[in-house]
Amino acid sequence: MSNQSGWKPDMEKGATSPALDAPGLGGAVRGLVHEEPLLFEHGSKGRCGVSLPAPGAKAADDLPAALVRGGIEGLPELSELEVVRHFTRMSLWNHGIDTGFYPLGSCTMKYNPKSSEALARLPGFAGLHPLAPAEHAQGALELMYALERALSEIAGMDVTTLNPAAGAHGELTGMMVIRAWHAAHGNPRKKVLIPDTAHGTNPASAALNGYACVQLASGADGRLHPDTVAAAMDDDVAAIMITNPNTLGLFESDIAEIARIVHARGGLVYGDGANMNALLGNARPGDMGFDVIQYNLHKTFATPHGGGGPGSGPVAVKATLAPFLPLPVVVKEGEQYRLVTDPKERPRTIGRIHGFHGNFGMMVRAWAYLRELGPEGLKATSDLAVLNANYVRASLQGDYNLPYQTDSLHEVVFDDTAQKEAGVTTMDVAKRLIDHGFHPPTIYFPLVVHGAIMIEPTETESKETIDAFVAALKAIAEEANRDPEALKASPSKPFRARLDETRAARKPVLRWTPGMKV
Ligand SMILES: *Cc1c(COP(=O)(O)O)cnc(C)c1O
Repeated sequence: MSNQSGWKPDMEKGATSPALDAPGLGGAVRGLVHEEPLLFEHGSKGRCGVSLPAPGAKAADDLPAALVRGGIEGLPELSELEVVRHFTRMSLWNHGIDTGFYPLGSCTMKYNPKSSEALARLPGFAGLHPLAPAEHAQGALELMYALERALSEIAGMDVTTLNPAAGAHGELTGMMVIRAWHAAHGNPRKKVLIPDTAHGTNPASAALNGYACVQLASGADGRLHPDTVAAAMDDDVAAIMITNPNTLGLFESDIAEIARIVHARGGLVYGDGANMNALLGNARPGDMGFDVIQYNLHKTFATPHGGGGPGSGPVAVKATLAPFLPLPVVVKEGEQYRLVTDPKERPRTIGRIHGFHGNFGMMVRAWAYLRELGPEGLKATSDLAVLNANYVRASLQGDYNLPYQTDSLHEVVFDDTAQKEAGVTTMDVAKRLIDHGFHPPTIYFPLVVHGAIMIEPTETESKETIDAFVAALKAIAEEANRDPEALKASPSKPFRARLDETRAARKPVLRWTPGMKV
């Protein structure tokens, strides 16, 4: 049996290196999954995709030069079908939430309802020019205004900017606003306090605003303690940046006291709102003492996520910070909506931080999602996200070590202490999960947990899926004791087996060869 590339598939079960039959064509199959040669290894001389006249032939004179073949050395010569199969096959290698469970802790890889997609594609939204005059864009402006109001309400804040394009961009914007606020009060200050559980984007956003970052140690219970904050707090501190729940999935129960300590010395409290999936409809950062938070619409509000596509990181603030927010801003005057774009109208604005209005398509999706769920649905979302994480915690606590014993919110962190004696690490567990058909969770983050395995199932997964995932992790824990060497050689099913994560990103191995060492 051979496929179109001339390969003889190796039918042996679990084979790691299918037979290489035709060197130079580079490829193999497992079932219907094709390894794919480089485009340059497909095709043959003189083959072409469309039947255009040869260069120099009479009819070719009428064709635009760009369409006439010939003269370009070294490009592959391919049929249309070869090109279509090449790219379609490779597209099937992508993992996404639409293909499988994706339990990345901190990333909230939840399902994005297709109804939101359909609405974002409405021609009136999708085709609207960003420079269309306000009278021709009233519906879009109304949507932005309504979303801004809703996000402010959900966070317990006063005003929100929709402009930032990602969580990190929102953090940068929020810290620019904080710096501008301090500067307007006479002194931008010098330092920002950040707990050791923080996402790496927090210190990056503070540093990009010229602040020195002071790391705060969390307690043995995984939480930040008021004493630690009080000891570090002085008149040079511009702000503290906290995620609540933190990246261990634990609620910072002393947040109100921490905010009081920071405010008493004239500092502000920044909330990394990437974990809002745990709080929706249950608690509001504005009520806990936060002055600024960023949302990640591509996490919490189910807009598409990852792959370098557009994100959206709206920033919600208390009224005192509103004059500093970036432009443009949508305002409502009577029954009309208008865009404020001129800094003369907002002299204290930090300026523009994105072209036009930000990623408008994300706003349409988020608004659709909000309207579909309503307040009750939003609350149910976080209730179920928390329930699912605690279900994973309870199901696996005999198999993997829990560095913090208390209940989780929306995500749960294990480590590899229980597998240590067998010489099995978090990396081995993550790699073996691929053989079980699951994308590995976030690993080795947060940094405060050595060998962290950070699982966020989200509310959109069924009990059957979570049970299957738990069963896979239990099987791996059992294998760690029985056959650690096999685990260390995993995964065995993908064509590219045990990639070195760092090298794979910097020096991608495009050409597969059987038994290749990568
Ligand atoms: C995802 C995340 C961010 C950054 O968000 P991006 O949209 O990826 O830039 C910041 N903080 C936490 C806790 C996150 O999980």
